[in-house]
Amino acid sequence: MEDSNGKTIASIYTQLLQDCISSKSLSKGKIIHAHMIRTGFRAGIFLNNRLIDMYSKCMSVVDAQLVFEKMNFRDVSSWNNLIAGYVKNGSIEDARQLFDKMPEKDGVSWNAIIAGYTQHGYEKEALTLFGKMRGESVKPSEFTFGSILQACASLQVVEQGRQIHTHAVKFGFQGEVFTASSVVDMYSKCKRTGDARQMFDKMPERNLVSWNAMISGYSQNGCSGETLKLFRQMYCAEMKPDRSTFACVLSACACLSALELGKQVHDYICKFGLENNVFVSSALVDIYAKCGSVEDARQVFDKMTTRSTVSWSSMILGYAQNGRAKDSIQIFEKMLRTGTKPDQVTFIGVLTACSHAGLIEEGRYYFNSMSKDHNIALDLEHYACMVDLFGRAGYLDEAEVFINNMPFEPDAAIWGALLGACRIHGNLKIGERAANYLFELEPRNAGPYILLSHMYAETECWDNVAKMRKLMKERRVKKEPGCSWTEVQNRVHSFMADDLSHPQANEIYQTLERLIGQMEVLGYVSPKNTVLKGDDNEHEWKHIYHSEKLAIAFALKNTPPGTPIRIVKNLRVCDDCHIVTKFISQTVGREIVLRDVSRFHHFKNGMCSCGDYW
Ligand code: ZN
Ligand code: ZN
Repeated sequence: MEDSNGKTIASIYTQLLQDCISSKSLSKGKIIHAHMIRTGFRAGIFLNNRLIDMYSKCMSVVDAQLVFEKMNFRDVSSWNNLIAGYVKNGSIEDARQLFDKMPEKDGVSWNAIIAGYTQHGYEKEALTLFGKMRGESVKPSEFTFGSILQACASLQVVEQGRQIHTHAVKFGFQGEVFTASSVVDMYSKCKRTGDARQMFDKMPERNLVSWNAMISGYSQNGCSGETLKLFRQMYCAEMKPDRSTFACVLSACACLSALELGKQVHDYICKFGLENNVFVSSALVDIYAKCGSVEDARQVFDKMTTRSTVSWSSMILGYAQNGRAKDSIQIFEKMLRTGTKPDQVTFIGVLTACSHAGLIEEGRYYFNSMSKDHNIALDLEHYACMVDLFGRAGYLDEAEVFINNMPFEPDAAIWGALLGACRIHGNLKIGERAANYLFELEPRNAGPYILLSHMYAETECWDNVAKMRKLMKERRVKKEPGCSWTEVQNRVHSFMADDLSHPQANEIYQTLERLIGQMEVLGYVSPKNTVLKGDDNEHEWKHIYHSEKLAIAFALKNTPPGTPIRIVKNLRVCDDCHIVTKFISQTVGREIVLRDVSRFHHFKNGMCSCGDYW
């Protein structure tokens, strides 16, 4: 009778402890434990294990440890629960000590300690333990594979990851959605999107985690087109996306300046009721700004009910990048008034704005206020903004002194900004010094060689142009082929220089020839006959039509009059394309937004937002 009564009480205690775990209520758990002690109830192994579990999950591992130590008899779960408790509370070393002391381990023990190592950044240790686990012939579970694949992903060890994948197949986990998604994630994070996709396609069933693993894989590896394609498939498969799916998709739209697609995604986000989510709406502000559509960005921004530092920064940076310096600084001042704390990104926006508007004094003031008033650490990017600010305004000596007095080793972006400024202001002396640093830092990057060559060519130092060419050959510097993208009717079209492969190539070339003919009447001289003479036709400037010209002509032919044109280019836009684009924007009355690798160019009525400085 008493026995069965004891059992009943035990089951009540079990239920009560379970409730404490669900509600994460340590105080209630302690009351129940105290009740057990006060009434002289002798808890058996099972109930003691529940107590350990409760204390671990309610984040009081010290109490869990006390229960464990007082137990006269323990089973494998007692040990496992305390190990899990240590892991959960971040005491990975205690977990390991306990693990090593265990008289008998089962799969759960191994999984707990391996997961612990992975979660707390000891991925190598996790892999070593997995080897030991296999050595002792303990059968791994889907959880083992989940942790160990995650460890491979963090360490970027794709070959080891591949072996683990093979193991998973051997143990029959290939078709199991949790493991298969982890495999997809591992390959994606190791930059093997092809392998990831193969696994993804083989999966008999997929959940949101699987889709997100593949979509974020594409997006993080810069495969923006694939990201959007897969998102469409996800839509067709009627899988409901979440905010991290949207974040990837929006960033892909932003990369491609695919505004129309971005707007569709926006509608879709509204349909799911996620437009008030601060992450999603900040991403929307960002994408509209990156597509050069600051008005849309501002609309989303104004509608936001809560704004985080990220939201404000996106808007500030968006205005700055699109040449709207005054608006950018206005928003920044408003941000300060609302009491939102700015961060490093915010100041990149502010400094960029100052640089665009030539606000030297303001730029200096904001730069100094970062550490003084806002306690924000300055990093290289902020220094690069300042170099840009001085350089753009023609204060080249000051820029050089500033670089030489920096607390960090200046990087290629900083010298690149100075070299660019020297080119614009025709200062060969400082330009040569900047270029020499760049040749040392990035000997295989074609950009500086080409910029300096241009500067020599402009001063007719043909010997030096030849010297640069020789240097490039010796160092086997290859220029990344130029490529431009534009979105027409929800499809992104890409072009290479002198591309003949497009089905509309004929019409595109006719359009360009017509426009350039008009320009020549007005006195335009194609640069291929002047500045670039003495060149050996090896580099991009030998091309008659750079990719952005082709993309612009294509967009002109395929969009209704008056529609703004958006182009993305993977390199810096050259002088000639810049001149031609300004002309086109005026002649055909179109707004052309060209985002090159270093900045935005907003062409309108024959002018560019960059003020011919980039
Ligand atoms: Zn060009
Ligand atoms: Zn420009």
